[in-house]
Amino acid sequence: MNLSYHTIDLELEHPFRISRSVTKIKKNVIVNIDEGIGEAAPSAYYNETSDTVIESLEKSKDELGDDPFQIESVLSNLNKKIRGSFSAKAGIDIALHDLAGKRLGVPLYKLFGLNGKIPLVTSYTIGIDTPEKMKEKTREAKDFLIYKVKVGVENDTEMVKAVREATDAKIRVDANAGWAADEAIERIHRLKEYDIEFVEQPIDPEDKEGLRKVKKNVDVPIIIDEHLMTSKDIPKFLGVCDGINIKLAKCGGVREALRMIHVARAHNLLIMIGCMIESSVSITAAAHIASLVDFLDLDGNLLLANDPYVGVKLEKGKLYLSDLPGLGVMPKEV
Ligand SMILES: [Mg+2]
Repeated sequence: MNLSYHTIDLELEHPFRISRSVTKIKKNVIVNIDEGIGEAAPSAYYNETSDTVIESLEKSKDELGDDPFQIESVLSNLNKKIRGSFSAKAGIDIALHDLAGKRLGVPLYKLFGLNGKIPLVTSYTIGIDTPEKMKEKTREAKDFLIYKVKVGVENDTEMVKAVREATDAKIRVDANAGWAADEAIERIHRLKEYDIEFVEQPIDPEDKEGLRKVKKNVDVPIIIDEHLMTSKDIPKFLGVCDGINIKLAKCGGVREALRMIHVARAHNLLIMIGCMIESSVSITAAAHIASLVDFLDLDGNLLLANDPYVGVKLEKGKLYLSDLPGLGVMPKEV
């Protein structure tokens, strides 16, 4: 099989601020394997860039073989050859699944034995800004039924209050490890006044004792995202959280995401599927397995001013997959 790639500059509608960083343009890599398409969404937090992705893609070229149905062995060989570089592996995994679906003439969800209907709605992320601007952004995005508010900064109680003033919808928060344990407990108690559904990554994921303390002292679910990459990481967080956030770019693609879902279910963990800043290619790939989880945060493409692709359709927060073979993603006609 023939692998090629090109980078895409994804422009954010608004600069996207979280507790540790701001993004204005995100450079992702589109991966093509024969007629299959995938996307690598590297994250600087995990020491990945478009350059490290390209390096890994070059190393992968000789491992692909010529049978698009040998996905398991191709990916396991790649894992032996390349350490980390999960977003590059996700790009390859997504392209191989798209290719297999196209060759068989079936949408990806059918390959996985799913019916393609997604009963959940996705949250829409409100990045860190002034409380006034966050209120305005919430009002602008009034069609959503769940908002995910980025917190983990000094005045975040005011920020959540402002979002609450703009909507009666569900609010979940993500601190991106911006708090310390005692601070998190105090902050979460205050945020409860605004009726929050769960808290993602309150503190440093390596501070297991801190996490245990937070979980013990608050009664909203705690979801782990940072440093929870693949199924092998799940045991490290047992007992210190209520759920996990799976992202294709963190775990290496759809195949590993499915494995994580099964491992998490076996441990009675809540499961969320999230995303990086990414185009409709990766978002659609995640949507194909979205019916298996409890919470969706698949809005990476909605935050873009220039998504080059169309795939899963969105209406009032609900995601609708087509019955096209493979991912069902096309270049956007301009
Ligand atoms: Mg997160």
